[in-house]
Amino acid sequence: MIHQYKNHGYNIVLDVNSGSVHVVDDLTYEVIAMLEAGRKELGLSSLSAQAESGEDAGTAADPEKAGEDTGTAADPEKAGEDTGSAAELEKAGEAAGSVFPELLVGRILQELAGSYPEEEIREVLDECAQLAASGALFTEDIYENAILDYKARKTVVKALCLHIAHDCNLACRYCFAEEGEYHGRRALMSYEVGKKALDFLIANSGSRRNLEVDFFGGEPLMNWQVVKDLVLYGRGQEKLHNKKFRFTMTTNGVLLNDEIMEFLNQEMANVVLSIDGRKEVHDYMRPFRGGKGSYDLILPKFRRFVSLRVGGTVPEARASGSQEIPGADSGHLLQSAPDGSKTWYVRGTFTHHNLDFCNDVLHLLDEGFDRISIEPVVADASEEYAIREEDLPQIFSEYDRLAEEMIRREKEGRGFTFFHFMIDLSGGPCVYKRLSGCGSGTEYLAVTPWGDLYPCHQFVGHEEYRIGNVDEGIIRPDIVDEFKSCNVYTKEKCRNCFAKFYCSGGCAANSYNFHGTIQDAYDIGCEMMRKRVECAIMVKAALAGE
Ligand code: SF4
Ligand code: SF4
Ligand code: SF4
Repeated sequence: MIHQYKNHGYNIVLDVNSGSVHVVDDLTYEVIAMLEAGRKELGLSSLSAQAESGEDAGTAADPEKAGEDTGTAADPEKAGEDTGSAAELEKAGEAAGSVFPELLVGRILQELAGSYPEEEIREVLDECAQLAASGALFTEDIYENAILDYKARKTVVKALCLHIAHDCNLACRYCFAEEGEYHGRRALMSYEVGKKALDFLIANSGSRRNLEVDFFGGEPLMNWQVVKDLVLYGRGQEKLHNKKFRFTMTTNGVLLNDEIMEFLNQEMANVVLSIDGRKEVHDYMRPFRGGKGSYDLILPKFRRFVSLRVGGTVPEARASGSQEIPGADSGHLLQSAPDGSKTWYVRGTFTHHNLDFCNDVLHLLDEGFDRISIEPVVADASEEYAIREEDLPQIFSEYDRLAEEMIRREKEGRGFTFFHFMIDLSGGPCVYKRLSGCGSGTEYLAVTPWGDLYPCHQFVGHEEYRIGNVDEGIIRPDIVDEFKSCNVYTKEKCRNCFAKFYCSGGCAANSYNFHGTIQDAYDIGCEMMRKRVECAIMVKAALAGE
């Protein structure tokens, strides 16, 4: 499968199955499009030499490593620029005829005759033949069987999302957790239930040593003492069971204080700080229960937390727009820990009301945060802030603007991280993850304050997806099987989608919320995902070309 698009002056060709990315000239772009159309018309699964000869592509037996040795996956190249010596090209010339059906080659020569010299067209065909022969173009999908193997494997639980507080001190308009209540009563997780959850994780993690526990809510700081006690309990269990806990937390920041910041800095491997961007945007969507905006309270706390997190001097409040923070490095202001051991990021949500969300990213950068995630809201179409089909053109142009800004700042030596453009073009590390997604319902479970287990935080409150509880463990293995059997090959939409190996089949919860089944996909989300993948590949291509 080939996906081609033009962005920021680049002609980009993605060979979906190998993950190879090629930046090509206009003629090559046209030739590849004609070859791909011909492949489809002739009903061929691939145009690669290996496939034709029935030779093993060398990776099918070892899908964990698939994609590692194509030589082009993480290295977008100009097709034909480095395909080798004259002798090799001559050999490839013969290859063009043998790799691609004669009928197709003849048709392409004829159709492009009026626009390009024949010699040039033949040269491009030969280069394409070489790429196909080396497994970087027109490759076959070798992963479908690997997923059967995955389904047969025993999975272990690696991560828990602890709903430490079903309560919140904010009243965000888009709150899927219903201001922390999750279709149920307000509740705080007790220390006893939390301990049982950690014991459950240890007991169900097999030989896996590194385990993840995310303190989630509602607002987890509303049950701070239990968070602290559970971290200490977890640390105490590590040696006894030869496990290592990686604790993380998501917070709205309202209750952050020095004591909490110090503990988070010592114990949490990652802290997610919720802020939507510009003050007016944030305050509209994230008010207190009384209606007052929360921006002015949380911004200085987040700035202080991040500066402490990276070991810098606590920055003073400063006038908006200024780039100076006393005590911080020049350039990158509030940087993440260099070894990545203690990370953080600011996470926001954009809605129909701030479709110009690139300005929110820029605002957060101006405030000194250089690790940013801004995600589209997922909401029922009846909500006034929901993203609609007609919003997509503007959203796409904002992603383009953001991609261009990323390239510009990176070249100026003041790059930043935008998590939705962080895609792995290398093919690794684990192909199963790429095929089946986030691990919800199998490797990752959510635990409610009273100890019930659900496939993930988004399913909490949907009784039909209650998998078990911390006392009895998993009592509905059929739900686990349902999640385990969900992958890019079981969903018709994903099977034919060029983004499938980056998106991994989307979010099961979104699919369930919009279609009543986890085997579908949330269509507006898919459109945005595909655009982000295109932008991310373009950014990599642009920076690789430097
Ligand atoms: S801070 Fe989180 S849990 Fe609280 S209302 Fe906002 S989105 Fe909901
Ligand atoms: S973008 Fe949508 S269709 Fe494509 S793989 Fe993801 S969920 Fe599936
Ligand atoms: S199913 Fe969706 S919401 Fe749940 S963990 Fe996966 S990606 Fe997140």
